[in-house]
Amino acid sequence: MGLRLTLISILSAVMILSGLGMTWVFRHQLTAAAAAADRSGAEKDMERLLLALNQQISEIHVILGSWSNFTSFYEHAARPSEAFRNDDLSVASLEAGHFDWINLIDAQGRVVEHSEVPLPDGSTPVRRAYDDPAMASVLDMALREMVRRQSGCAILSNGSRVAIGCYQPLLPSDGTGPARGTVLIGRWVSEAMLAKVRTQTGLQFALQPRPQGQIEPADSSRKVESFQSGNFQLEEETDRIQVQSKVWGMHGRYIADLQMDWPRESLQRTEATVHLVTVAMAVLTAITVLLLIFVCDRLIVRRLEGVRRDLGRILENESWDGRVRTARNDELSELSVYINEMLDIIREKIALVKEQSLTDPLTSLSNRRHFDLQMDTALVQFRRDQSAGALVLFDIDYFKRYNDTYGHPQGDDVLVKFAQCMRQSAKRPMDVLARVGGEEFAILMPMTDSDGASHCAEQVRAAMQALGLVHAGNGEFGCVTVSAGLTMMGPEDTAETLYSRADRALYAAKNSGRNKVVLG
Ligand code: GH3
Ligand code: MG
Ligand code: MG
Repeated sequence: MGLRLTLISILSAVMILSGLGMTWVFRHQLTAAAAAADRSGAEKDMERLLLALNQQISEIHVILGSWSNFTSFYEHAARPSEAFRNDDLSVASLEAGHFDWINLIDAQGRVVEHSEVPLPDGSTPVRRAYDDPAMASVLDMALREMVRRQSGCAILSNGSRVAIGCYQPLLPSDGTGPARGTVLIGRWVSEAMLAKVRTQTGLQFALQPRPQGQIEPADSSRKVESFQSGNFQLEEETDRIQVQSKVWGMHGRYIADLQMDWPRESLQRTEATVHLVTVAMAVLTAITVLLLIFVCDRLIVRRLEGVRRDLGRILENESWDGRVRTARNDELSELSVYINEMLDIIREKIALVKEQSLTDPLTSLSNRRHFDLQMDTALVQFRRDQSAGALVLFDIDYFKRYNDTYGHPQGDDVLVKFAQCMRQSAKRPMDVLARVGGEEFAILMPMTDSDGASHCAEQVRAAMQALGLVHAGNGEFGCVTVSAGLTMMGPEDTAETLYSRADRALYAAKNSGRNKVVLG
């Protein structure tokens, strides 16, 4: 996988993973906070609802207290009067007093007077409950409890309807004398009452009585005079919370459920926000990834590719004087600078090696290899230009003896000095001066005629003798001398023929007394 693809993969993976992580944390935190806020809001509203319902109980208590016929009822309890019953306890009177039924209960909890406003269908459920033997024990307990408590209110149920009842001892309106029983007035918790509470609170709820058979045994530890708060059961759904509160009747009997349907606005708003933020994050992540890829591509990948291309070209063509590009002033540019410095070193080393491969290390003249190459070139040029050209071979006379007498290092010194003589005499730029063997030298003289070449060779020979380097083994001369074989280039010549002709001339020079130049 290339650098570009690797970068794209890594950057995308990192950005996507961090984006997903952040979104998850964000979503988790926000929705948890919103859900908690919703739960607390729902519970607070349930408390508000209970307060509003308890206000309905208070209202009935007030109605009971303000009922104007206590004295007459008190007398009626001692001496029952048909007139009082037909008049003050009539349906019309009850309706005028805003309650649905009235009872007089004696000290034993027995109902001794009962009047009830029939429901729209004509039924009188309270009377029916009193007459129902199945309810006798429950009612008996409730009524006795009221007598015992003397005064208060309670939430009541016959298994299909919920009612509110308030009771107090039957005394004359001025409150004197011993009580002649307990007065209980009740009111059904009607749809109208619930609708009023819904309007007041703005909350949606239902009051669901529990069927008689399901009413659990009494929990007498409970206060039962009103709708009790606390211990709500919450059932959470995406768009709403169902809050349920148990309703306790006389003797702590669980008689009904109050259910509130609470729309979850906070969570839904949060979900919408989270959705929006998630989309925004996704777009932002995508833009960031593209931007990073673009920047990395421009700053790193493309520049590396450029350097790679430059280096590839240099390597392919072995053009060590080439350069890799540098731009800006950063690490990559430093890398390019280092590469260029290395190229400089490589170029210098190659030049050095090249020079060393063509040069004789002792005398710094061309070596045999270079000389041969130059000879080929000179011959080609000679043939092309049909001009003149010469080759001279030199050989130090009795050099073996010199070494033997004066030592090898001294001999080397002679070789260096002879090279200097050659340089002094053959100065033309096109002349090729070479050490072609141990103590054998050559001068290749392109574009030179026979006279010029003889003159040059003679100059070299004379210069050597003129140095006067003592050489006792060199017979009559007594100093180091050199013999030379000179030959001119011919049209049919090859390097070999030219060289061997010069060598033969040198041989002739040796055989004819040495320290001379022979033209062959
Ligand atoms: P001649 O006059 O016939 O040329 O006699 P010569 O002694 O020079 O004979 P020859 O050319 O065969 O001898 C070459 C000698 O040159 C042998 C060797 O000792 C010496 N020689 C060759 N290369 C070097 C070198 O690099 N340094 C030194 N000091 N001596 C060398
Ligand atoms: Mg020799
Ligand atoms: Mg020799």
